Amino acid sequence: MRTAPHRLAISASLALLALILLPARRLAAAGEPASARSVKSPPTDRPNSHYVSNREPLAPSPLVKLPIGAIEPHGWLRAQLERMADGLTGRLPELSPWCKAEGSAWMSREGAGHSPWEELPYWLKGFGDLGYVLGDERIVAEARRWIEAVLASQEPDGYFGPRDNKKNRDIWPNMVMVNVLQSFHEATGDPRVLPFLSRYFRWQLALPREELLPGSWQKVRAGDNLESIHWLYNRTGEPFLLELGQAVHERTIDWAGGIANWHGVNITQGFREPAVYFVQARDPAFLAAAERNYQTVRDLYGQVPGGMFGADENCRPGHDDPRQAAETCSMVEFMHSFQMLARITGDPLWADRCEEVAFNSLPAAMTPDLKALHYLTAPNMVQLDRFNKAPGLQNGGCMLAYDPRDYRCCQHNVSHGWPYFAEELWLATPDDGLCASLYAPCTVTARAGDGATIQIREETDYPFDERVRLTLATPAPVRFPLYLRVPRACHPVALQLNGRPLAAAAEPGAYLVVERTWRDGDELALEFTMLPGITVWEKNHGAVSVHRGPLTFSLLIGERWERCGGTDDWPALEVYPTTPWNYGLDLPWPDPTRQIEVVRRPGPLPAQPFAPEGAPIQLRVRARRIPEWKQDETGLVGALQDSPAYSAEPAETVTLIPMGCARLRVSAFPTVSSGPEAHRWVGPPATTPARASHCNPGDTLAALSDGREPAASGDQALPRMTWWDHRGTREWVEYHFDEPRSIASSEVYWFDDTGAGQCRVPASWRLLWQDGEAWREVAARGPYGTALDRYNRVEFAPVTTGQLRLEVQLQPEFSGGILEWRTGGNE
Ligand SMILES: [Zn+2]
Repeated sequence: MRTAPHRLAISASLALLALILLPARRLAAAGEPASARSVKSPPTDRPNSHYVSNREPLAPSPLVKLPIGAIEPHGWLRAQLERMADGLTGRLPELSPWCKAEGSAWMSREGAGHSPWEELPYWLKGFGDLGYVLGDERIVAEARRWIEAVLASQEPDGYFGPRDNKKNRDIWPNMVMVNVLQSFHEATGDPRVLPFLSRYFRWQLALPREELLPGSWQKVRAGDNLESIHWLYNRTGEPFLLELGQAVHERTIDWAGGIANWHGVNITQGFREPAVYFVQARDPAFLAAAERNYQTVRDLYGQVPGGMFGADENCRPGHDDPRQAAETCSMVEFMHSFQMLARITGDPLWADRCEEVAFNSLPAAMTPDLKALHYLTAPNMVQLDRFNKAPGLQNGGCMLAYDPRDYRCCQHNVSHGWPYFAEELWLATPDDGLCASLYAPCTVTARAGDGATIQIREETDYPFDERVRLTLATPAPVRFPLYLRVPRACHPVALQLNGRPLAAAAEPGAYLVVERTWRDGDELALEFTMLPGITVWEKNHGAVSVHRGPLTFSLLIGERWERCGGTDDWPALEVYPTTPWNYGLDLPWPDPTRQIEVVRRPGPLPAQPFAPEGAPIQLRVRARRIPEWKQDETGLVGALQDSPAYSAEPAETVTLIPMGCARLRVSAFPTVSSGPEAHRWVGPPATTPARASHCNPGDTLAALSDGREPAASGDQALPRMTWWDHRGTREWVEYHFDEPRSIASSEVYWFDDTGAGQCRVPASWRLLWQDGEAWREVAARGPYGTALDRYNRVEFAPVTTGQLRLEVQLQPEFSGGILEWRTGGNE
């Protein structure tokens, strides 16, 4: 920095000399460095002069968030945000009972009323930011109404919000509302926010320790609370906040020792807690713990493309296939965690991880018009119907259809995904520079160098295109370093300054730094390398995925959208495949990408590039079908088996589109071969169509005839059929055969989870067969048994029928169920 005036002087005299000889455009290059250096992280030897950085004794911030409003999104990103404003997030009060202002506990000065928990704060967290980022006055005003009510609800002791939560000592909903207030302050500078939060945190500190984070989700997610405490400390410097930060860390579940809880959303928030605490403890072991947590969960359940991991409520041992899904909440929380970690560590790897989720997994979680979402999104997902997919997915009931009213948490929490992303595109550095951390079209207006307010216009179709053009506007020449993240997947990078190549020895996973005196109109052009590449998922049966730059690609599957509920304005929608999906890739090893053809959509990006018809990039690749790879009895895509899979089907050229464009998709493919090394794919068992008086949504009628042998009546590992939550009632289940058959025996293996649940063997049962229109009981030759841990066989005089019914009388107070039900002919 000290040499700057000197260099300016040289540059001025050279310019004078050159004035006669050179066109004006070239002048800026005179006396300037002809190269860009590569660094792993910005320096941390001083705080940024213009923006709020970590205050002593907290660890210095390598990257600093700019105030909300400094970054104006353009292009495809603005289009997403505008769709949000017209879609689910912008209009959620029309749909969600938790967002109804009238009578809400969050609107009440006394904190009394309906919906006191997380839903309203979840929604408001992104809704407000959406308004600030877009400059949408309607949204800003509507958010303001809620914020004013929250600010008015503070009690003399500092607590605010619904009093029921205070009574229960549950500060989780308030953690989210504190985020709302942080954003409000960053966007408006409202002077009430800091003293308000200070009083609230004094209330937390005054709690008896055992009443601070006593249990449940708040104990798992309190890294969020800690981040807010540091945010306030950096603005007020009140020492009690560090004392509270220490107490909150000590009362949080221990994430430094490994994954402390296997719930998907808890992991995406909780895994980073040690890194947030590092800011206060300054022990690098805590940073390492957050990285280790990420590695652990990706290693066990994230051996798939798209940046997420399978937790279709919780991570489950044995359920690591790409058909295991991630909750929409998990995606936006993971992105938010990565943004925090990019700032805490300065390591661009975290920005890579944020883009991986944002560009690949998140768009697929919603309809292209952003008016509905589904709870669960998986890399392999070939049918989005409303029916139960358990036990293949852990969470039963409707999880995959797009529904604007269902999916309570995700419906509200999805709001902060794109707005927070837009706020983190550019960050400030401690040496008073600026950093392009995430790439998307925008204009950033910020103070740099000696404090001049400059603008950088970023024009790009990234992640669909390799080129990023940055144009500076400044009232006077200003010297500062410009940091450009080099995504791991986009290396090497070519750089041009004002049309001239700039030597740029960029390492992947580092920043290129161009430090110079910038002048109005200076232009930097980056060109990334985006070649098709293959990832082999060794731990997932040797499956492969195809990527290009930050995008991973999925099979283009024809979509048939069907309305399954909702209203004309807010329909609930299912998506069914209209083209085959069971392809394995036929790759020319050892050079697997040799035949992949890249096809660009001509013309400018469509308004919604994250849709199949708008896909800006397509890849063509050779594939062959695997006929035995099918959907399971619930419609869920079959799990992967070993690659290479045997296929003698004809080779075809199939089209891949970005995963974020594909609502139906296969993203982790088997490879195929017809050689001796190929593995024969084992198809699913054929099951008998069945009906029941009732079947618990988490269970499946297909379990009756799936041929999977129970180990015991309490076997929880197998799919089952139960009448839960019917208790003590008379119930039935029926087989519907394709053609009438002669039956003379039947065997049933009862489900009984004594010690774990409320299912028991029935009080009694009998078999009926359909004779024309009538149901008749079979002439049994022995008792109807109810023994545990084995088949109960009954033989009877042969009947010929198309339908057989098993009728039970459940024990009083208890439900019941069946693991397997077999029928036999005349023996
Ligand atoms: Zn959710």
